[in-house]
Amino acid sequence: MVSKDMLQLGRVRSAIRELFEFGRKRAAVVGEENIYDFSLGNPSVPPPKQLTEEMVGLLNGSDPSALHGYTSAPGANETRDAIAENLNRRFGTDFTRRNLYISCGAAAALTSVLRALTVDGNTEFIAIAPYFPEYGCFASTAGGRLVVVPADTERFQIDFSALERSINARTQGVIINSPNNPSGVIYSEETIRALADLLRKKSAEVGHAIYLISDEPYRELNYTNEPVPFVTNYYDAAIISYSYSKSLSIPGDRIGYVLIPNAMPDFEDVYDAVAGSARIQGYVCAPSLLQKAIARAAQLNLMPDLSSYRKNRDALYEGLNAFGYRCMPPDGAFYLFLEAPGGDGDAFAEAAKDEDILIVSGRSFGCPEYVRIAYCVAYDTIVRAMPGFGRLYRRFCK
Ligand code: PLP
Repeated sequence: MVSKDMLQLGRVRSAIRELFEFGRKRAAVVGEENIYDFSLGNPSVPPPKQLTEEMVGLLNGSDPSALHGYTSAPGANETRDAIAENLNRRFGTDFTRRNLYISCGAAAALTSVLRALTVDGNTEFIAIAPYFPEYGCFASTAGGRLVVVPADTERFQIDFSALERSINARTQGVIINSPNNPSGVIYSEETIRALADLLRKKSAEVGHAIYLISDEPYRELNYTNEPVPFVTNYYDAAIISYSYSKSLSIPGDRIGYVLIPNAMPDFEDVYDAVAGSARIQGYVCAPSLLQKAIARAAQLNLMPDLSSYRKNRDALYEGLNAFGYRCMPPDGAFYLFLEAPGGDGDAFAEAAKDEDILIVSGRSFGCPEYVRIAYCVAYDTIVRAMPGFGRLYRRFCK
């Protein structure tokens, strides 16, 4: 006998993975170059050269037992110190290693935080559509429940009246993700201020802190001149879940962190509960080699090279607009969220397969009228996919 819930999760692949697998099969038939695969958010730029050099240096130079041995569960001191110093320099904060728990990427950071904050079976976490679909199973396997606030489809910021209506005494946290997967939108400073005000008001009303859980794997993928607001500077009970998967193009290396500021009212409890949660989930510690590499990356302040993503974004956005498609200008991450001509994201994504264009329906992100295009691909893929997008538009908008 096995757990029904786990069986279901293991058997039913996510819509994104499903599409990716379809692409692999199709590529075997029509050739790799004839598949326009915009399904996965796998970075298409290589990791910074300096990071690779640092890793090679570590592998060649260090004492192997230090490089491959366990670190303390929250992460090596040198890594946490280097990250804290980097954040303090950039965001005017005063973090120390005690504010950081190194994790195996954002997924592990989030599951640790959600499990830590789940008080009982009534615990609710709120996500704002469009949202990363894994939040649903992360919240439910933590023992709580995900409540989804419908999207503000005008600007893809936050519909505050809908959010306010969703908050009640069971609400433990609101999850945000900016720059956003799938919309590419960055929450403005005005949005973050209004969100902080609302959460302060509601926390007072319900008599406990409502945590702001900020999922930030795309923080550094920002094409605007405005900084992405750093949430702990706006709200004390804010927890950041960060990942180097996208910013340094190392998603397979599984490294990120949870950041819990001292200003949080029950700081010690939250930090230790995150540690307990990571412990029962068996994370033990994040990969040691990567922890050392990340310490160097933080000291060197390594950042992604945005030039090719920007070029892709511009070509895609301008090309699609020229056909008549509608979408928000994507300011960050590497996704474009397109209003599906005809209003049905499922039907449009399905029809796109006829052109060997693989795009994900917005349904699993909580916006079934949209499709997501991940433009972390070769520039040439975008150029060659354009005629197919044109035919699709004409097919749906006769
Ligand atoms: N959160 C969002 C919004 C994501 O898009 C992803 C990955 O695509 C994750 C979390 C998980 O990131 P990681 O690979 O660091 O676990």
